[in-house]
Amino acid sequence: MKFGTKALHAGIEPDPTTGAIMTPIFQTSTFVQEYPGKHKGYAYARGKNPTRTQLENNLAALENGNNALCFSSGMGAVDAVIKLLKPGDEVITGNDIYGGSYRMFSKIYEPFGIKFHYIDLYDASNIEKYINSNTKLIWAETPTNPTLKIVDIAAASAIAKKHNLILAIDNTFASPYLQNPLDLGADIVMHSATKYLGGHSDVVMGALVTKDQTLHERLAFILNSCGANPGPMDSFLVIRGIKTLHLRMKAHCENGKQVAHYLRNHPKIGKVYWPGFEDAAGHEIAKKQMRGFGGMVSFTLKGDDFEAAMRFATSVEIFTLAESLGGVESLVNHPASMTHASIPKEEREKAGVVDGLLRLSVGVEDIEDLIADIESALSKV
Ligand SMILES: *Cc1c(COP(=O)(O)O)cnc(C)c1O
Repeated sequence: MKFGTKALHAGIEPDPTTGAIMTPIFQTSTFVQEYPGKHKGYAYARGKNPTRTQLENNLAALENGNNALCFSSGMGAVDAVIKLLKPGDEVITGNDIYGGSYRMFSKIYEPFGIKFHYIDLYDASNIEKYINSNTKLIWAETPTNPTLKIVDIAAASAIAKKHNLILAIDNTFASPYLQNPLDLGADIVMHSATKYLGGHSDVVMGALVTKDQTLHERLAFILNSCGANPGPMDSFLVIRGIKTLHLRMKAHCENGKQVAHYLRNHPKIGKVYWPGFEDAAGHEIAKKQMRGFGGMVSFTLKGDDFEAAMRFATSVEIFTLAESLGGVESLVNHPASMTHASIPKEEREKAGVVDGLLRLSVGVEDIEDLIADIESALSKV
């Protein structure tokens, strides 16, 4: 089955009792048992809920995995992965990962005795320098947020396998439409389903997809034990969002490309980050491991001026100033003061998150209107 057909149908069954074509929202906390311990596969909705199960089966198919688990947020999913570890363990991760992941690692888990190395993952040969006998996990994001750098998943996987480490990939920016890390050797794929999977800025959810049964069972145990499960209504919303994932991603990619090229040719613009440019760092790897370059475009204004960035962010009219990304509507974000404010300035700037950097989540509006909006905002800068 090809991707669009899978998005609509894989793992999704019409309701056997009523024939309802849309997955029902099983708004129930518990399930009747025939005898103690004898039930239809569902005992208590923290562990499993039938609406959530259909979404999980669908996600497993879209990522070419065997199992998926959904969480109350992307961070809930990240948290479950870190709970595979114990004090003394070490993690190798990127130096420009999602600000919320950095905050969890540094503020919550470092005090618990887990050590994180925030390194340049874009040169895979760099990874091995940080591996020792305590290393257990490589946590990578690709493309990264907000400078859209590319990690070579196959190369990272070869290193992970050689040293018996778990490789987890945050696939939020690419979505399964553009990239399937499990096919490249990753052990866990993580999504903030809040973004492209949900696609309509109306739900917060996370997901983990795996191939390995033992790893799945450990993560399912953590989900049920720690309780970061999503509700059935949210599961329904993501199921509905995914039905148009392939259509939306095509439009995001096309609009993203046009915006990236427009910005690159504009005299007031400094750098433009978009992995589709032939001279972008990681372009060759992106071409190899992705089926398109996505709808995220970041750029700096000439001079990296904070005031100019603020003026742009408050002058656009169709692009809305907001955190988050991946919804149908176009958004603009100022990472240094918004999504990445929890990363110390010095660390942030090493990763390119300067005061003049803006990040666009290019939506699916008509491209002529988006370009006109950017043009008009730039004329006020
Ligand atoms: C949003 C995001 C997260 C966190 O997900 P939530 O659903 O907001 O908890 C993690 N990683 C990336 C890349 C994200 O964009």
